[in-house]
Amino acid sequence: MAAASAERNVRVARVVPLLKLRHLGDRVFDYLIPADLDNRVTKGAVVTVPFGSRTARGVVVALGSASDADISELRPIGAVEDESIPAGSLDLARALADRYLASFESCLRLVAPPKKTAGAGGAGRPRSQWVFPTAPQASSACGQKAEVVAAGAVVAAGEVEVRLTIKQRAVLEAITPGGSAVTEVCRTVGVGPGVVRTLARKGLVVLGPAPAQPLQTAHRDGSTESSEEIPSLRPEQEAVVAELIAAFAGPGLARRVLWGVTGSGKTEVYLRLVARALDDGAGAILLVPEIALTPQMISRVRSRFGDRVGVLHSGLSAGEKLREYRRIRAGHAPVVIGARSAVFAPVPNLRLIVIDESHDTSSKQEEEPRYHTRVVAKMRLQADGGLLLEGSATPSVESMAQPADLLRLTRRAAGTPPVCEVVDMRRQGGGDLLAPVARDALAETLRRGEQAIVLLNRRGYAGYVHCGLCGHVMVCASCELSLTFHSRIRRLVCHHCGMSVPQPPLCPSCGEAPLVRAAPGTERLDRELRALVPREQVFRLDSDVLTSGTRVREVLTAFAEARPAVLVGTQMVAKGHDFAHVTLVLVADADTGLYIPDFRAAERTFQLLTQVAGRAGRAEKPGRVLVQTWNPDVPCIRMALEREESRFYEQELESRRRLGYPPYVDLIRVMTSSEQAERAQVGIRYLLERLNPHLPSGEIRGAVRLPMLRGRSRWHLLIATREGERARMLVKEALAQLQEPYRRRGVALLVDVDPQSFN
Ligand code: ADP
Ligand code: ZN
Repeated sequence: MAAASAERNVRVARVVPLLKLRHLGDRVFDYLIPADLDNRVTKGAVVTVPFGSRTARGVVVALGSASDADISELRPIGAVEDESIPAGSLDLARALADRYLASFESCLRLVAPPKKTAGAGGAGRPRSQWVFPTAPQASSACGQKAEVVAAGAVVAAGEVEVRLTIKQRAVLEAITPGGSAVTEVCRTVGVGPGVVRTLARKGLVVLGPAPAQPLQTAHRDGSTESSEEIPSLRPEQEAVVAELIAAFAGPGLARRVLWGVTGSGKTEVYLRLVARALDDGAGAILLVPEIALTPQMISRVRSRFGDRVGVLHSGLSAGEKLREYRRIRAGHAPVVIGARSAVFAPVPNLRLIVIDESHDTSSKQEEEPRYHTRVVAKMRLQADGGLLLEGSATPSVESMAQPADLLRLTRRAAGTPPVCEVVDMRRQGGGDLLAPVARDALAETLRRGEQAIVLLNRRGYAGYVHCGLCGHVMVCASCELSLTFHSRIRRLVCHHCGMSVPQPPLCPSCGEAPLVRAAPGTERLDRELRALVPREQVFRLDSDVLTSGTRVREVLTAFAEARPAVLVGTQMVAKGHDFAHVTLVLVADADTGLYIPDFRAAERTFQLLTQVAGRAGRAEKPGRVLVQTWNPDVPCIRMALEREESRFYEQELESRRRLGYPPYVDLIRVMTSSEQAERAQVGIRYLLERLNPHLPSGEIRGAVRLPMLRGRSRWHLLIATREGERARMLVKEALAQLQEPYRRRGVALLVDVDPQSFN
């Protein structure tokens, strides 16, 4: 008895280290709580702990006790951060891990406060090093050249001729006229900082600190709205706002889909709702696909709500992120605008979440945890109620499954609906990308001093290259996917792993004939346009020339102010932009997304065409849309052109029902991958045998071999089930048991619940 009473119980903290250590599963580690930290170590506290030979950031997920005897092995917590994770967010992380079969750790990361770095919290953190162009060559309008010079090219720097390597030249071309972060440039081009330093030594660039960049720059980005002008609502908008406010104020969680044609004034509807939430003392989150592509939206929100707006985006420094986080958490910024991860913003009394352009693929994260913002938004609003509003001109087919949730805006607030014309490429001669009628329309538009947008949803110069004689296609050795020719660097590039090789002079397979460049991309289109249109009138927007948010804004701002002008690019040109002087939209190839192995191929094509057409004629002047296609009779193309939106959704839903795809079933994708081909295959087969007896027949589709990626062989299977919850539990059990043995055999297991992509 005496012995038992002598045994003290000591408080311990159960900690999940924020480390990507998948082999640990979701293990929780116990730590001692030092006396001086005792009152600060609570559930949700973010702590620094010794972990093996290093220290790690971790989250206290529970407090417990251990007897004296058990604590001899335990090490103490090192430090506690000022910001902890609120209880609700811990629960959210747990729910998210369950819903997406993800590790708890990966979900905790999303709700954890931004990491405090040395000097963070103040604005005084030294900025990263930047590089600025000096030679005229480095500052061409959009960083690309029509004529590219091969390796060893000679450029003039002042009076001296300097020889450049391919990498050096690529670096020069990646630098924006206003300068770029060194890390950014190096990442884009795939070189080390040494290349930049060499260029600096040659006097071709200058290194320096980042230019000061006040967060408020967004105010000036193409916005014409002053803080005073609040337009009165059109009747259609009025009705929608009234309904949404009723839904917002009602009990529990309401979810609505606002299907409003492009230019119908959805943003104004959002702003009215946010105002209403603020009046009620509630907080709101407004999610946009990509901050850099939506400067107008941000400036409108800012000019309406001033410093009550918090903006979260990846371009913020660690210090700025933390400052914004604290402002939001303290209730000083009850309106938060940001991209996907802003759905986790710690807004107090959160009652409204708006997902703008909800159909956009950015709504789903493509790394663990593979969450969808719609699902997270629902989880967040579940407890206290409120409104989840998804807005789009082209909602996803899945959003259309519950017609009761649907609200419509059918007319444009300003301007007239664009008129679409098809250009049947089967009847066009010549090897040019743009048909004569398209060229004429472009020339005419520019002659009137107006603007045009040209869409081609394929990067590079040629999507693939093949032998004209034997047909051999050049593929990446570690990805089994075709290589894209990029004329800027004159290399064949793998878009999956980044590997690049010079284009061989002759087909490496038969050695008889030169390679032919097929599937023209934006680089080629850009070149063709520069032959038709003065250089300074052409602006390009695609991920090859634009890797930083600043750069995207620069091009968009420059284009907005230039007239006449033409903006050419990939799907980025189709996103939400509101340019008053765009009167012509050309789609160079409507067929790029048709024949990919994805049940959403038709939906994506329909959305892209409808969205890009919506960029034309948004102000007084009417818009014209010309769509080049080899497949004018394919339903998704025809219905987009004829603006038969309702019919498209009806047909698509019907075919999904017939074939058993979402929204009629839930999908779970499981993938194995390994550097050893047979192991990936054995892994998927074993999994298949294990799952099969527990699921109704036909619910497992597969297994299918996928193209190798980054040297790893891959197999996947798809579960298409009416009982998503049950299937998730089954897969979860299988994962719990198999992940570790598979890992030891060099097989990675990946699960994607509600997959949006099948690459
Ligand atoms: P959407 O997001 O639906 O594409 P926007 O919200 O960008 O449309 O609105 C398109 C244009 O119409 C914008 O320039 C906006 O300022 C204007 N607008 C919206 N609502 C009204 C209104 N009630 N009265 C006048 N102009 C409006
Ligand atoms: Zn590759």
